[in-house]
Amino acid sequence: MATLLRKAILRQIDARLLADKLAAGAQRLANTDMLTGVPNRRAIFQKIDYLVEQRRPFWMGIVDLDGFKTINDVYGHIIGDTLLCAVVERAANLNVEGVTFGRIGGDEFVIIVPGNFSEEKVRQLGDNAIKAISLPYSIELMELAVGVSAGFSHFPSMGSSRAQLYEKADFALYKAKKHHRGQCILFDTAEDDEMKQAIQIERALREGDLETELFLLFQPQYSPGMQRVVGFEALARWQSPKLGLVRPDLFIRAAERSGHIRKVTDILFRKGLATLATWPLDISLSFNLSGKDISDRLFILSLLGQIMRSGISPSRIEFEITETAVMSDINTSRTMLAALRGSGCKVALDDFGSGYSSFEYLDQLPLDKVKIDRSFIRKVPHSTTSKEIVSGIIGLCRKLDLRCVLEGVETEDEMEILAKLQPDLIQGYLYGRPMHAEDAMRMILDQDTRLSELSSPVKRG
Ligand code: C2E
Ligand code: CA
Ligand code: CA
Repeated sequence: MATLLRKAILRQIDARLLADKLAAGAQRLANTDMLTGVPNRRAIFQKIDYLVEQRRPFWMGIVDLDGFKTINDVYGHIIGDTLLCAVVERAANLNVEGVTFGRIGGDEFVIIVPGNFSEEKVRQLGDNAIKAISLPYSIELMELAVGVSAGFSHFPSMGSSRAQLYEKADFALYKAKKHHRGQCILFDTAEDDEMKQAIQIERALREGDLETELFLLFQPQYSPGMQRVVGFEALARWQSPKLGLVRPDLFIRAAERSGHIRKVTDILFRKGLATLATWPLDISLSFNLSGKDISDRLFILSLLGQIMRSGISPSRIEFEITETAVMSDINTSRTMLAALRGSGCKVALDDFGSGYSSFEYLDQLPLDKVKIDRSFIRKVPHSTTSKEIVSGIIGLCRKLDLRCVLEGVETEDEMEILAKLQPDLIQGYLYGRPMHAEDAMRMILDQDTRLSELSSPVKRG
């Protein structure tokens, strides 16, 4: 009897041990990223919450790969997955004691560095990780490379909750991606105001009635050869009931960060087309696209759909893109730009010369036009080198059969020098500031009157 009882008890203990083992296994699974084997989003966030709760100081870094999507698109998911595993292996090999490295999204990772590391030490750690991860990978006889940027924030000096720390590390990462690609940036508490403003803008965008609050101003593009305005660039404005008139670079960036950009672009483009429909057929419209717009196939198709439904000839519509907009996903961007051109629209490379590798993009992208950045134009009256550069770019565009626009021409002095270089188009305060649609229409009508007056004596003769 006693033996039977002992056996039953032992069986029960066995069953409990097994259940515990299974539970531990399930727990491990729930906390592990299935692809790479490192802690997943849930585990990373739990760890951060725990450290915050225990009031233990630590640094949190968000590490993001540049160009991963392109590799995934071009070489397929299997190569993409292999690359992600190799990235994790490189990070693990850094072997810094106490540091946790986890994957919280597609190509987004988090580093947790417990303890009170100095800023310099954390920066060094981040830079080492970036250096290791960005070395080329040999995968199936191919050499593949990804760029890496990282943003860090510190508990408790920069934030007192996981959400705040994430927000600040993400803000630092955004700065890194925008201005210091391939570097590790620590959140700067002096930027607290800037970030608060960005968050305020994001909130107002979320809550606003964008359909009524967003509108466009139009800035003329003047052809010195034809001595007339041939088109207008649409420039976004946002009159927020909460924040007042918000600068486009601020709210476009906020919309990109918070995932509202497609909605914003969609509304603006519809308004742009409605205005274009009221203009004479020889006037065109240039419209700015953000990087998020251009890397989204369905969205680009929806813009083309809008054009078709409007009945406006696509040849009157030009899309402006910047080098930074196409950089993160050059292959998709190229395909999308080709699709826009294939439908009859034009494509212009904006802010030419303000980036690092503008010339490379002339070769890589299907373009009709180049807009030379106003930072060059500003310098032309005082610098022969700048004048030579602008002249060289105009010459190059001509050879490549690209039209060339000089941006930001403000004074007669600048124009006198620039006119000699025979650019195709000029855009700047000298020929008109961004204006409301009615004023643009008035400008067009005045111009038509002037031109017909000029040509009528000839006709009569
Ligand atoms: P951008 O595309 O380079 O637009 C030209 C900017 O230069 C405009 O500023 C315009 O007002 C300004 N500008 C034009 N002529 C002169 C001049 O002679 N002197 C000076 N100092 N400035 C001049 P704005 O309207 O503030 O736009 C700033 C940027 O915001 C734009 O730069 C563009 O990158 C972005 N943006 C504007 N509208 C949109 C939009 O609808 N979508 C997207 N994605 N971005 C937009
Ligand atoms: Ca532009
Ligand atoms: Ca520009």
